[in-house]
Amino acid sequence: MKKIIVFAFIFIFLFATACGEDAAEEYTSYANAMDTSAKITVYGKDSKAVAEECAELFKSLEGEFSATDANSKLYTLNTNGNIEAEGHLYALCGFANELSTLTDGAYNPCIYPLVKLWGFTADEFKVPTQEEIDENVKLVADSKMVFKDGGIYIENGGMVDLGGIAKGYASEMMRSLISGSDSTGAVISLGGNIVTVGEKSDGTPWSIGINSPKNDGGLIGTLSVGECAVVTSGSYIRNFEKDGKFYHHIIDPKTGMPVDNGLVSVTVVADDAALADGLSTAFFVMGIEESLTVAESLDVDVVFVTENSISISSGLKEKFTLSKSAEDEYDLIFL
Ligand code: AMP
Ligand code: MG
Repeated sequence: MKKIIVFAFIFIFLFATACGEDAAEEYTSYANAMDTSAKITVYGKDSKAVAEECAELFKSLEGEFSATDANSKLYTLNTNGNIEAEGHLYALCGFANELSTLTDGAYNPCIYPLVKLWGFTADEFKVPTQEEIDENVKLVADSKMVFKDGGIYIENGGMVDLGGIAKGYASEMMRSLISGSDSTGAVISLGGNIVTVGEKSDGTPWSIGINSPKNDGGLIGTLSVGECAVVTSGSYIRNFEKDGKFYHHIIDPKTGMPVDNGLVSVTVVADDAALADGLSTAFFVMGIEESLTVAESLDVDVVFVTENSISISSGLKEKFTLSKSAEDEYDLIFL
C-alpha cells in the first residue's frame, strides 16, 4: 500500500512538472507603444522572460523615437536642433540617412514638418494651403541630419520623423534578444510589421497574412516564409477624407502631398526588419518600377497592391497564396 502511495505521488509530481514545462513552452506578451498594439509570441525555454523583456524594450524605445512625447530623445533633438550621439537614437538616425541615400530621397527622415502640416502627428487632420505646402517642401529639402562633434545635428531648421522605420528597428532589436535566448522560435507582430524568428516546432514554414486594404481584418493572401521580416505600408492605415477627397500619411517629399500613384499598400520581405520597414515606406513613394530596381539590388522581395491588382516580385512566386476572397477583386501579376 505504501508503495502505491509513493508511486502515486511520483506520478502526480512528474505529471505536474510536465504540465508546467508545457505551459512554459509558449508565451505571448503584449505592449502598447508607437501607436501600435504589439503581440510577441515566443516558443521554447524561458519564453515568458524573453517575451516580457521584448515588450518592455518596445515601450522603452518609444521613449527614444516618439516625435510627440516631450520627454523623448527625438523630441529633444527636434526642439534643440541637436542631441548627444549615442544609443538607439544614434543607430536609427544613422540608418535613416543611409536609407535616404539608397532610395534617392523618397525616404526622407526630415519629413516631420510636412507630416505635421497635414496633421498626421496628432490626428488633427487638415488640408494645407499650397503656399504652406511649398514652404514646407523647401524646408524638408533643405534640412539634413549630420553627425559631428559627438552629436546629432539637424541643419537648416528641419525636424526628424522616424515613424517610417522605428517599429522595424524595434522588432529587429527584439529579434536579437530572442535569438540570444534559449527559445526555439517567435513571431513578433507590431501592426503591419511582422518578424519571424527561428523555426516552428513542426518544421513547417511560418504563414504570414497580408492585410486587405479594403476589408478590415481580412487578408489578400498569405506568405509562407522562414526567418525574416514582412512589413507593410498602406494608405489605409492612417488617412482622412475632406470634401470627397482621400488623404493619407505617406508623403512625397518632392510635392509635399500624400502619394498618389495608384498604390494602396506595399509589403517588403527582407532579412532585416528596419530595412523592410524603411523600404516599404520608400517604395510606396517610388512606385512599382523604380522600387523594383532598388529591391533587386538589395535582394529583397515586394508585394505591391493597387485598387485591383497584386504584383509580386519573383522571389515570392512560390511563397504567396492569394486569398479566396481576393480572387475576384484583384488581378495577380508576377513581376
Ligand atoms: P510606414 O507605416 O512605416 O510606412 O510609415 C509611415 C510614417 O512614416 C508616416 O506616418 C510618417 O510619420 C512617416 N513618413 C511619411 N512619409 C515619409 C517619407 N516620405 N519619408 C520618411 N518618412 C515618412
Ligand atoms: Mg515603414
